[in-house]
Amino acid sequence: MTLGVLALQGDVREHVEVLSSLGVDSLAVRRPVDLDRCDGLVLPGGESTTIAKLARTFGVIDALRERIAGGLPVLGTCAGMILLADRVVDGTADQETFGGLDVTVRRNAFGRQVDSFEGPVLVNGLDEPVHGVFIRAPWVEQVGAGVEILARLDERAVPGAVGRIVAVREGPILATAFHPEVGADPRIHAMFVEMVRRQH
Ligand code: GLN
Repeated sequence: MTLGVLALQGDVREHVEVLSSLGVDSLAVRRPVDLDRCDGLVLPGGESTTIAKLARTFGVIDALRERIAGGLPVLGTCAGMILLADRVVDGTADQETFGGLDVTVRRNAFGRQVDSFEGPVLVNGLDEPVHGVFIRAPWVEQVGAGVEILARLDERAVPGAVGRIVAVREGPILATAFHPEVGADPRIHAMFVEMVRRQH
């Protein structure tokens, strides 16, 4: 199994390291030919507007859209979640996404006061909470019928955001508002690798 990590901007190396700790080889994706070699793809945290612009500049945006629409398993974290969303609130006027995930995300949802925070997040399918690192994170504001909500914030995370949706799955797409690639907990990546294996 080979997983690609979209390597245009963002915390690419952190994802590569978590995958390698799970014994999974990854390759940097910048061009459509790179995508041809991938059984699954990771969209990292970073800046969604920059990543989308670079994807257009590198001529890979259409290939990304096609592969994702065609059922390629994808894990998107933070900016990666925004890039997967079919609809974005508070994006820039010209913001493009790759789409595939039938959700509306609110970009920079937590606002300036608390634009970064950390806290426990209980994720469906995991026994113990993960330590969620949120950095100018989005939340999911609305989900389509086929989308499974995997995590909502509880009162332990941050004031004013109880009940906000921060992890979802739709078919082969897994997305988190936080950064599972930061810290030493590989369980979200392991969940994704298992999804890819099942599809493989
Ligand atoms: N706010 C960023 C964006 O709009 C996401 C931040 C992140 O990935 N940590 O893309």
